[in-house]
Order: sequence, then structure tokens, then C-alpha cells
Amino acid sequence: MKVYNTLTRKKEDFVTLEENKVKMYVCGPTVYGLIHIGNARPYVIFDTIRRYMEYKGYDVTYVQNFTDVDDKIIKRANEEGVSTEVITERYIKEAIKDAEGLNVEPATYNPRATKEMPHIIEMIKTLVDKGYAYERNGSVYYDTKAFPEYGKLSGKNLDDLIAGASNRVDIDTDKKSPADFVLWKSKKEGEPYWESPWSEGRPGWHIECSVMAKEYLGDTIDIHVGGEDLIFPHHENEIAQSEAANGKPFARYWLHNGFINVDNEKMSKSKGKFFTLRDIVAEVPYDVVRFFILNGHYRSPINFSRELMEAAGNGLLRIKNCVRDINFHIANSEGDTLTPDEAELVKKSADFKAAFEKAMDDDFNTADAIASIFDFVKFANTNVKETSTKTFGEAMLKGITELCDILGIKTAEEKAETDTAEIEALIAERTAAKKARDFAKADEIRNRLSDMGVIIEDTRQGVRWSFK
Ligand code: AMP
Ligand code: ZN
Repeated sequence: MKVYNTLTRKKEDFVTLEENKVKMYVCGPTVYGLIHIGNARPYVIFDTIRRYMEYKGYDVTYVQNFTDVDDKIIKRANEEGVSTEVITERYIKEAIKDAEGLNVEPATYNPRATKEMPHIIEMIKTLVDKGYAYERNGSVYYDTKAFPEYGKLSGKNLDDLIAGASNRVDIDTDKKSPADFVLWKSKKEGEPYWESPWSEGRPGWHIECSVMAKEYLGDTIDIHVGGEDLIFPHHENEIAQSEAANGKPFARYWLHNGFINVDNEKMSKSKGKFFTLRDIVAEVPYDVVRFFILNGHYRSPINFSRELMEAAGNGLLRIKNCVRDINFHIANSEGDTLTPDEAELVKKSADFKAAFEKAMDDDFNTADAIASIFDFVKFANTNVKETSTKTFGEAMLKGITELCDILGIKTAEEKAETDTAEIEALIAERTAAKKARDFAKADEIRNRLSDMGVIIEDTRQGVRWSFK
């Protein structure tokens, strides 16, 4: 398996610290509102990477934090006149609902900064004791000049960063160097705070992730991921903190997802080009959103538009209709031994799985992996015939659903199942009407089904239906 490592800027063989074990840390959302369509991308992508690793036999410990101390959370709480906990509890619940909707496997751990204060204070103390951090007026800063490798992830040079930051007007005069960043901030009036050796205050954002990764996974982890906007400064600072405090390399592989843009522009509230995931799922189901995201390579930017979402919906439907047809075949056929021709076809279908794995082994190319599922679907549509054995249908179904499961694509959806009951009832009614030679009624039911987007086909095995 090869993965593109942002740290080395090349694709590398994936080798874990401990055999068959993966320690993975995902930077989660800041919980002050509903997640937006862009946030859905890391959810889906890193869940898919995890699922693929599990399929390959790795035991994955998956840690995704919730950032629950932040200026934006405090602002929102003040606007609503409630405590910050009310805001964070509410939006953590909503984010979990969205993750479930997207068919994201629950994380092994979902730590929160507010619950890790003693560990956060401990790591800051270590950094101060080791000479990597200093205190000024109750706040503590990281001394970037003390860490010679600062800039290695983002490829930035510390002198350039200092020069760039010196021109800014909002410069914090307590810092020794403008590139230094805050580990502990002393409180301002009306802000939530915790006791510490330096002041009543709260931690900076970057230290939270260094601490949670250490607490839940250890000093060195296999894989650290997030959106590409986090490379600098967030992940650069995490490396500086963790490696200085622990005296060990932090993460072996750094993976970053590209952005979702809207109409080829960065999402922006002021331009009205901002969509929460809930805005989108009011129009299309969650599984279409997941499928849409998987249609692009995770490192490339992807553009969100209604047309592309519709195209993704049609693609997904092709897979679902194929699965439904095979299920119909299985329910209405016999034969538990493959014919020699079928045995040959089953053997040939292994090529689709091989192509799928080849794509996923190459830095998780989900777009090509989906193309191999479509090839499989086409193959099944051509070869599962009324005369095929039940066993052959089962083999095709197993092959396709196995690949879909790895990508977290549901081939039978709960909602569709309720719809299915209604459709099946109408079909039974139509069959009864035909038997009673009430053709007017049978036609009327066919039209009703057509209005529901269902096409029916009379076959020797019975009525077969699919969505248009
Ligand atoms: P935030 O809540 O802004 O900290 O973001 C949570 C996660 O979503 C991070 O991994 C971000 O990098 C990622 N993210 C934010 N905006 C986008 C976007 N438009 N496209 C893709 N990923 C994004
Ligand atoms: Zn983080």
C-alpha cells in the first residue's frame, strides 16, 4: 500500500510501527455550528481509508477529537446568552448525527480538549522546563527558534515566516518572535477558564491535538490527517510541540484532503456560497453526498454543484439497481452448483476486485476504485440472466457488495426499504388485477408506479422493477 506523505512530499510504502496495528489521529471539527459540506470531506475520506486498512487486516485505533475550546464557540455562546457547554454539547450531537448519516464508523475515541486539561498543562510544563516555551504576563508561548526543524511539514522557512509576520499590525508584543505561537492564554473577562501554574486561562488550539494524540495513541503515531488548510500552522505546530516534549518523531505519515469549493470558488458565507451538510441533505440523501465525495481523489480539490451531485446520485442508483436485480434473481431462481461457464465468469470477476485493490493501494484512489465497481456492475448486468443459477447470482452479489462496503457505500438503504414495501404491494395489486383481467386497473397501477419513478418489467420469473 502506498500513501502520499505530506511530510516527505512523495508516495511511500505504508509500514506501521507495530505489525498490523494502525494508530490514526484525525483533527475533528470545531463545534460552534452545524458541519458544512467541506467538513464532510475529511469525515468520509478518512473513514474510507480506515475501512480499507481494516479490510487489509489492520487493527485501526481511530481518534477524532472535537475542538470544544475556541473563540468562535465563546462568541456563539455570548450571542445566544448560554454557556459554552450548551453550544458544544449541541453541535457535538449534531456532528455525530451527520457522521452517522454519512455512514462513518464511530471513532474508537472522540476526546475533547475540555476533558484533557491536566494533560495539557503537563505538556506545556514539559515544554517550558525543556526550554521550548516561555511565559509572559500569564500566557505561555512556544519558542519556534528553539526547534530547528520548524517548518519541515509545510516547507516554510522560519526567517521568512518571521519577516512576514513582522509586517502584521495585530502583532502580539509579548512574543519573543512573531512566529511564536500561544500554548496557554490568560483569560479575558467573561471567558471560560481553567487554573494553571501561569494564570487562569485556556489552552491554544494546537497543543490540544498534540496532547490528545499522545494520551490516546502514544508519543509516536502512524498516521495523522486533516484538511490541507491545517498543514500550516496547525500541524506544523503540533509537530514542534510533540517532538520537543516527547523527544520522539510524532507522526510517520501525514495525509491531507483537498478542499471542496462551491462554483469553483472557496466557500464563503458573505458570497452566499456556503452550505451546511444539512442544507444539502434536505435535497439529496446522505449516501449520495458520500458517493459524490468518493468520486474525486482525496487530494484534489473538488467542486460542489447541484449537477455534479445529481450525476453522483445517478451513478449510485446504477449500483443499487444492479444489486436489487440480482436480489430479485436470487429470490426467484434455483441451482446451487455453478455451471462450468458460470465458474469461469466468477473467476473472471476476480479482476474487478484486483483492479479495485490496485486503485486503493495507490494512495486511496477512490475514483478508480469506483470505476472498477461500475465495471463489475456492467459485468453482472450482462451475465446474470433468467437462466443463471441462484449460486451465480449470489457470487456476483457478494463480489459487488464487498467492494461497496469497503467504501462505505450502502447498496440497500433503510429508506429505500420502506419505499420497497409500498412498491411491492402495488406490484402485487397489479398482478392480482391482471389475473382478474382488470387491465384498466393494472395500467393505472403501472402509471402510479411510473409517477413514483419505478419502471416495471414482466419476466418469466415474475415482475422485475427498478428505479428510472
Ligand atoms: P474546522 O471545523 O474548520 O476546524 O474543520 C474541520 C475539518 O474540515 C478540518 O480537517 C478542515 O481542514 C476540513 N475542512 C474545512 N473546510 C473544508 C473544505 N471546504 N473542504 C474540505 N475540507 C475542509
Ligand atoms: Zn488538530
